[in-house]
Amino acid sequence: MSDRSGLIGLDLGGTNIKYGVCLPDGTIIDEFIRQTNKDAPAEVILNDLESAARQALDVARQKGIAIQTIGVGTPGSVDVGRGYLKGSTPNFKSWKDVPIKEILERTLQLPVYVDNDANVMAFGEYRFGAGRGYQTIISITLGTGIGGGIILNGKLFRGHNFAGGELGHMSISYRGRKCRCGGTGCWELYASATSMLENFRRWSKGREASSTREIVDLYEQGDPVARRVIETEVAMVAVGVASIINIFNPEIFIIGGGVSEAGDWFIDMIRQRVQQSAMEQSLLGVKIVRAELGNKAGWLGAAAFAREEWLNHLNAENTRLLT
Ligand SMILES: [Zn+2]
Repeated sequence: MSDRSGLIGLDLGGTNIKYGVCLPDGTIIDEFIRQTNKDAPAEVILNDLESAARQALDVARQKGIAIQTIGVGTPGSVDVGRGYLKGSTPNFKSWKDVPIKEILERTLQLPVYVDNDANVMAFGEYRFGAGRGYQTIISITLGTGIGGGIILNGKLFRGHNFAGGELGHMSISYRGRKCRCGGTGCWELYASATSMLENFRRWSKGREASSTREIVDLYEQGDPVARRVIETEVAMVAVGVASIINIFNPEIFIIGGGVSEAGDWFIDMIRQRVQQSAMEQSLLGVKIVRAELGNKAGWLGAAAFAREEWLNHLNAENTRLLT
């Protein structure tokens, strides 16, 4: 058969596991989705990840692709060296303190690398999406909460104990709402998709929107409540984006998540608003763009991240053997 090599990426989310097979250049060979048993014991979730990987391995084998590495993105803080999920994750019952890498490497007999889901998403955009060619990148996803990824000089920044980069838990109001993280006034309480749906319900006195897409459609039809929700969302997103730009002065700021796919007008509105509040020198030349990979960013990023960690590991081994 052929001697093409390929990668597997798995993106564990609160609702679904998204996964697939791609080539090292990001070309997608096949991709899949299955439900997450987020209330099940950790062993069940590990079994699901393993069985998803086996399905992807079968597809690769049929297509003559030799899998080099498997990458996993998971909610929570991950000790990346050990591929170990530290502490707990708010949306999962028993997904905590899990030696993911050790267990999957034993069962799958391939190198496995694990990182936080927002980090691999940022890495996906960096390697294959809107962040291609840039070295200093901030990426956020407006979803249930706000996921954040920070890439500095071409490397993911995770903090000294792998728990940094929590952009959604930056406070924007010291007298604000209480957050499940223990903080007060966290950004994601005001600017996530969840807060858009809540605002819509509150301001329309009980009318429900099932998704941010629905609010976007209503906005485009001129609905006044949807308009208020979108304008509030833009202001709330922009206040955080401007602060983060003042701190990092990135080359590019990538915004993903359902509402960012609305159309260019959404990003344009945010850009205008950020221009009014970020520091002039910090903002100079910063591109604010929407994410390109949609919900594929996680698994593609996990796949790319794993390959690069593996190559770094091989290089380090070679250096060690030669000296
Ligand atoms: Zn918080």
